[in-house]
Amino acid sequence: MSFKILLSPPDVGELEQQYVLAAMQSGWVAPAGPDLDAFEREVAERVGVEYAVGLSSGTAALHLALVSWGVGPGDVVPVSTFTFAATVNAIRYVGAEPWLVDCDPVTGNIDPALLEQALDEIAAAGKRIGAIIPVDMLGKCVDYTAITKIAADRGVRLLSDAAEAFGATHAGRPAGSFGDASVLSFNGNKVMTTSGGGMLLTSDGGLAQHVRKLSTQAREPVAHYEHTEVGYNYRLSNILAALGRAQLTRLDSMIARRREWRRRYRQLLGGQPGVRILGGEDDSEDNCWLTAIVVDPAKSSWTVGDLGAALGASGIESRPVWKPMHRQPVCADLPSTINGSSDQIFANGLTLPAGSGMTDGDFDSIAGVIAEAVL
Ligand SMILES: *Cc1c(COP(=O)(O)O)cnc(C)c1O
Repeated sequence: MSFKILLSPPDVGELEQQYVLAAMQSGWVAPAGPDLDAFEREVAERVGVEYAVGLSSGTAALHLALVSWGVGPGDVVPVSTFTFAATVNAIRYVGAEPWLVDCDPVTGNIDPALLEQALDEIAAAGKRIGAIIPVDMLGKCVDYTAITKIAADRGVRLLSDAAEAFGATHAGRPAGSFGDASVLSFNGNKVMTTSGGGMLLTSDGGLAQHVRKLSTQAREPVAHYEHTEVGYNYRLSNILAALGRAQLTRLDSMIARRREWRRRYRQLLGGQPGVRILGGEDDSEDNCWLTAIVVDPAKSSWTVGDLGAALGASGIESRPVWKPMHRQPVCADLPSTINGSSDQIFANGLTLPAGSGMTDGDFDSIAGVIAEAVL
């Protein structure tokens, strides 16, 4: 189906065209170049980390962090079950075993107590823990106060999947600055895009240098092609970095638009019986990438299925929240620590359009359909 109003389409315009054109005219078409260097510096500065490595995707950034740390067969990696497949896929690329951990029912973010339980079980089974990968769900940071302490107490590496959370904070500190390393995505549906791309952020110089090398086929710094380890072709191109730089200048205003949609959805739906916004009442530190509602069928006269159908019939895209990884056929055999929260949210959740390029008129159309269908 083709929709008139999409969930979260890229928001690009003249400024992006200017930056990309200038990069092409500069002659730095491929592979690396000054826009890539500048983009890395600008993101690192914004997030408050020492190093940023521009890569072809957020998935590549997750993968290379694990490769560089030597995580592999025999290692177990506790990870949010409530996430996009990329997080879990990256663990499997290196041959490690994902251990799926369920979430807090209010935020959808990994439950710290459940994580502790999983870590105890893994330790009791005599298995090695390669890293912990929590995911900042829909642009709300996980409880890093708790998670960072758990990782430190156990002496385990923390890789933060902040793919959805660029611009969010936890206790005033930016998403992407937590853990031993973290990952951003600039995929076309995220708060800002390079059409496709991602970044590894860290204050560990050795890790940044190694990931940068791994991302360019692990070439040794000599004129002939010399390789002492297996590399990858994962570097972000200079042209796409230019697009990213243009987007970065607009990031705050784009996030402000998404926050405004959150505010209006809350106003429209927040007081309805059995309806809540995923993430809780306080989204002051959220980037509000997407807004999802969760509707309790016991307390509401309508279901998310009813609303999704009405929106779809009017050309408005909406979607279920991520299907939890422990429900995915491809993950059927993975160990997990599950409390039912992500299943509940998946069954009763609906993600609503929240693009920064959406107009007030678009929102009014959505509000009209919602009012007609369920209010
Ligand atoms: C988008 C996303 C990724 C992957 O990013 P890509 O750039 O698309 O590879 C990883 N984790 C989460 C939680 C995401 O939402």
